Amino acid sequence: MTNTLLILPGDGIGPEVMAEVRKIIDWFGAKRGITFEVSEDLVGGAAYDKHGTPLTDATMAKAQEVDAVLLGAVGGPKYDKLDFSVKPERGLLRLRKEMDLYANLRPAQCFDALADFSSLKRDVVAGLDIMIVRELTSGVYFGEPRGIIKEGNERVGINTQRYTESEIARVARSAFELAKRRGNKVCSMEKANVMESGVLWRDVVQEIHDAEYPEVELSHMYADAGAMQLTRAPKQFDVIVTDNLFGDLLSDLAAMLTGSLGMLPSASLGAPMANGRPKALYEPVHGSAPDIAGQGKANPIACILSFAMALRYSFDQGDEAARLEAAVEKVLADGLRTADLMGPEGGKPVSTQGMGDAIVAALDAGL
Ligand code: NAD
Repeated sequence: MTNTLLILPGDGIGPEVMAEVRKIIDWFGAKRGITFEVSEDLVGGAAYDKHGTPLTDATMAKAQEVDAVLLGAVGGPKYDKLDFSVKPERGLLRLRKEMDLYANLRPAQCFDALADFSSLKRDVVAGLDIMIVRELTSGVYFGEPRGIIKEGNERVGINTQRYTESEIARVARSAFELAKRRGNKVCSMEKANVMESGVLWRDVVQEIHDAEYPEVELSHMYADAGAMQLTRAPKQFDVIVTDNLFGDLLSDLAAMLTGSLGMLPSASLGAPMANGRPKALYEPVHGSAPDIAGQGKANPIACILSFAMALRYSFDQGDEAARLEAAVEKVLADGLRTADLMGPEGGKPVSTQGMGDAIVAALDAGL
């Protein structure tokens, strides 16, 4: 099967970090025989500058056809005053919406060499490897009615938490499938004690488990207790599945257990396509970092690890993803540090390009 990839570098540091991913993609082609049909296009401010829109219909159509989209970052001060409808972020939102990417995968993985970066004690986070699956296309961010209305003399802000059974079932299946490839454990988080949508969430996750994944260990936890447990003893978890709002908070909380924004990848997956691969968008969690753009300071690892996720979840190359993650781990263990990773204990400073080259060298050394 051919592997097709659409690369959308975007704005700010996006093109810089993506250039390093390109080196990795070329390495897998040359040294492992895993080749990709790569096309590249514009998104965000870069697309607005050329076409007057943050995502053209042609780029959207291409995104629907490929096996995976790899995105850098969008946005920047130059575009802050644009009308909401053409802001760079609208390009990203359109991709997520039209590809119907309902499962957002946010790993929180603590590389041993960076354990001292966490605000928690080393032994609490060293070796941490958990995955938060956040429902991304429904819930309180989308529910109707919504708005600010007038009631008597005052304004009332309204949002609606709404989940259908099928929306819960499909994201639950994503979590169980993931758990089967990892530690075989899922913890589902909601607020069934105070929200009806939480009661339904808990019921449906349990039903899907009992009918389709009885071999996976399932537990339920209230989301507030989950936040406490994530900071107290995060290594107790394997896969956490939760709704859009709680997932937004819990995935950011979990991410910070591991240190720098420059290290955090993500994947957003949708329904399987005709070839069996899921609709998929991979992107670093960080933004376009205009404060350091164009200076060779950006850490490319978040984007490189996003490509590792693509290898694992779109191209069924779990072993090769692990090979790439091991190369990243080795470079960090050797003390190489972009500026964002430079802690009190120091390290060998490298540029964006230097980090990419070192990871390629570590891949070579690992053959
Ligand atoms: P940001 O993530 O761009 O930057 C926050 C801080 O982290 C900055 O100091 C930045 O220098 C640093 N940082 C981020 N990524 C880094 C990396 N790879 N290496 C080293 N340091 C890194 O968030 P922000 O400053 O709030 O937003 C900047 C722009 O990015 C805004 O226009 C915002 O809308 C946009 N944004 C886009 C996305 C996205 O594309 N998914 C996400 C968040 C923000």
